[in-house]
Amino acid sequence: MARKKFVCGNWKMHRTAAEARALVRELRAAAEPLADRVDVAVAPPFTALFAVAAELAGSRIGLSAQNLHWESQGAFTGEVSAPMLVDAGCRYVLCGHSERRQFFGDTDEAVQKKTRAALAAGLHPVVCVGETLPERESGRTLEVVGRQVRAALSGLTPAQVGSLTVAYEPVWAIGTGKTATSAQAQEVHAAIRAILRELAQGVADSVRILYGGSVKPDNAAELLSQPDVDGALVGGASLKAADFTGIIQGAIR
Ligand code: PEP
Repeated sequence: MARKKFVCGNWKMHRTAAEARALVRELRAAAEPLADRVDVAVAPPFTALFAVAAELAGSRIGLSAQNLHWESQGAFTGEVSAPMLVDAGCRYVLCGHSERRQFFGDTDEAVQKKTRAALAAGLHPVVCVGETLPERESGRTLEVVGRQVRAALSGLTPAQVGSLTVAYEPVWAIGTGKTATSAQAQEVHAAIRAILRELAQGVADSVRILYGGSVKPDNAAELLSQPDVDGALVGGASLKAADFTGIIQGAIR
């Protein structure tokens, strides 16, 4: 089945609102013409969401948040809910990015709750999974990634699974300059696809599975040529409009 490729930029904790506006203006000028052939989104920090949404008015480039809390409101100091993200103009939200799992204690259970809350608010979750280097080196990659996917998606209806995206991001490849080979990525993506078939038979072939981990303009085309690699989640390279645009072009070739 032909799946439209999807390239999402994760800006992490970078850019003030004014800097974010400038970056997205540059990106829009370069990438808007490509956005009918590839779905494109950017995920700025919370504080820049409204500013970037205003800059993206009328654009096909979508807005994503990087995280959310699963409750819709309440006494949760410092947190932001799914309805608030919708209010800010978001279409997507990252759930369970490895930096959240590693540094902020996001468990499989938390990622599941966040995924459900996002779906309930009408957002499209981008559910992030991936193994650490010791897990890969001890031959546990498929076991770890399988556990993360099953946990995040447990109890969802096939229609809900159909409206989310999975991002496979080997932790050892994020921000390190080390990239999985296209064969390593395809192996894990195919395993994720097989789990999706078990969980949601009718929609598994339409769910996009992104690769993330040091994707750059010069390796994007090769990675994204794999049959189950349906796009990229891009960190560092998404902070430069030219590099991010180069990766989007790699999704078209
Ligand atoms: C990420 O933040 O999801 C990521 C993949 O980062 P980088 O592209 O910098 O490795």
